[in-house]
Amino acid sequence: MCIFCGKNEDMTEYADEHVFPDAIGGLLILKDRVCKPCNDKLGHSVDTHLVNHGLVSFMRLIYGLKGKSGKVPNPLEKGVLSNDPSQQVRYEFTDDGKPKRTYLVPQITASKQEESVEISFNIDESDRKEIPSIMRKLAKRNNFPISDEQIEEVLKIPSEEFQPTIKSSMKVDLDKYRKAILKIGYELGCYWLGDKYYDDPVAACLREAIFSDAALNEEARRLGLTGDIRLIAEESEFPFLSNNKACHIAFSMSQSDFISCYVRVFMLFEGHVLLSRNPARYPDFEGKFIEIDVEKKSMRELPFSQEIYRVGVEANRMN
Ligand SMILES: [Zn+2]
Repeated sequence: MCIFCGKNEDMTEYADEHVFPDAIGGLLILKDRVCKPCNDKLGHSVDTHLVNHGLVSFMRLIYGLKGKSGKVPNPLEKGVLSNDPSQQVRYEFTDDGKPKRTYLVPQITASKQEESVEISFNIDESDRKEIPSIMRKLAKRNNFPISDEQIEEVLKIPSEEFQPTIKSSMKVDLDKYRKAILKIGYELGCYWLGDKYYDDPVAACLREAIFSDAALNEEARRLGLTGDIRLIAEESEFPFLSNNKACHIAFSMSQSDFISCYVRVFMLFEGHVLLSRNPARYPDFEGKFIEIDVEKKSMRELPFSQEIYRVGVEANRMN
């Protein structure tokens, strides 16, 4: 049965659902739990805001995490020279996210004087071979004659080595990524609490919030969901639980009157998602911990109590 739409037909085609999206190195996969239409729909409407978030793009670049296009994103793609904001520059990376080169976006202007035309170029050395055709085009467009000798003269100008200082800016979304974290929490609920989690009243609210187009805060208030998902400003709430920046972690614990799940994506976002108000429904649930290391491409999953014990032993050894 699909954990999102509840469809349960023989014809249902399932997709491999990455609990933490594939593009951020999510290794935990739910098989035969999410139908293909839900997987596609939620990928476009929810996951995209997390995997293409400006801050996440930097982490994907650092760890070489490719998206569906097969490319590592380049958040530095567009910038300008700090001493000349009219000059655009691109930092180029290979598809694997290795630095390739800095590229000066061509800037060519022609201005008519009384008896002459002044052409100015700012082009990348790699575009030198384009100079003759650029000049001929400019001449044609501005209606002035140009000789091969004049073009030769321009080609003789040596290129300048420079170490540009580049300014770039980006917009950082502060809301939409949060639904993707909520979705991770919900899927962990389905994974850890088993099939009967689908019928939990809180699970139904989470599904509604995940599919809704409204802002998460609004939906959470309307549905009575509690929790908090935010950008990690200074220190993560649980720094002792793995302070490796290349990791995603999550854990869930049963409290006396609720079950919640903590999710952290890199050292960027963290949050608590309420999973159930009825822990008695899940008497066998003992609390779980998961850590996915996107650099080592490894995953650890164990009872939460064991992880706390391990962290304690390690802390003692260091003291
Ligand atoms: Zn579905």
